[in-house]
Amino acid sequence: MDRSNDDGNDLAPADATLTPLDAARADLLHRLLASGRLLPTGVDGLYGRDQVFNSVLDGIDAALNLLAAPEAPIAATFPPMLPRVTFDQIGYLRKFADLAGPVFSFLGGPEEHKELLKRLDDGADYAPLLTQTDLTLTPACCYPFYATSPKSIEDAGASYTTRGYCFRHEPSKDPMRLQMFEQREQIRVAAPEEVQAWRNLWLERAAEFLSELGLDVTTDVASDPFFGRPGRLMKQHQLSQQLKIEFLVNVYGDDNRTACSSLNYHQDHFGEIFGIRTPSGEIAHSSCIGFGLERIAVALCNQHGVNPDRWGLKLRERLRLA
Ligand SMILES: [Zn+2]
Repeated sequence: MDRSNDDGNDLAPADATLTPLDAARADLLHRLLASGRLLPTGVDGLYGRDQVFNSVLDGIDAALNLLAAPEAPIAATFPPMLPRVTFDQIGYLRKFADLAGPVFSFLGGPEEHKELLKRLDDGADYAPLLTQTDLTLTPACCYPFYATSPKSIEDAGASYTTRGYCFRHEPSKDPMRLQMFEQREQIRVAAPEEVQAWRNLWLERAAEFLSELGLDVTTDVASDPFFGRPGRLMKQHQLSQQLKIEFLVNVYGDDNRTACSSLNYHQDHFGEIFGIRTPSGEIAHSSCIGFGLERIAVALCNQHGVNPDRWGLKLRERLRLA
């Protein structure tokens, strides 16, 4: 793994109070900031990106689109927001309360506004003066597709592809864990056997793709970070049915791998919620695979150095950087 100081940047100042894992995270973040690949905003997990870093994201995205081309998925995008009603139908707050991003605005009149100005001047908490709108930030960019899917899918089912921003409220100093990040998602809604075959296809495809980028990748059965006590049962169900497979890259050592892609089999979960049926009348199944574009790009910067101009020609060609 390339941890050398190949881009002329200083190494992060050593902080003896950090665990070795946190020190490795701080060092990687420092290299990304010092090289200008990421631009700080003052909030952990929220960064701007320079054009070099954006080119890497676009290259990864283009390569992923080529991989998906045989299925000719329908390409579409949605804004990085969900109607609150969809958010609640999916049950996001029940499962992931701590990650949610509901949108609030000011709906008061002149009196309340006067109070708002006073609190702003005083640096006081103004949250009680705001009201929840009918929007939430999107936590996974496949959700809008189930909500807007035709209620009756055709024989062959439907394949979609999308790229979009997702929000998860998990501030962290780890550059592999952002609060607002982009995903490329491939989505399949079809009869159960169709969806399972599609899932097997991507299981192989995704691992091969990430290895070809020079990343050390393994796969493992995983569960979502469900919140609280009711979440425990959901975790068990997900693990025992092997519904979530993660593609884990080695950025901070073999014992601290990070998922940069996950393949999820929802069975009839979304079909049931949104009333999607196959031509034979059964509830449609669905599966999606999401690729964290920044996570893959950060893993590449860790592996090959923060200056893509110095990456090998084969990799640069694959990512359309050469
Ligand atoms: Zn998804």
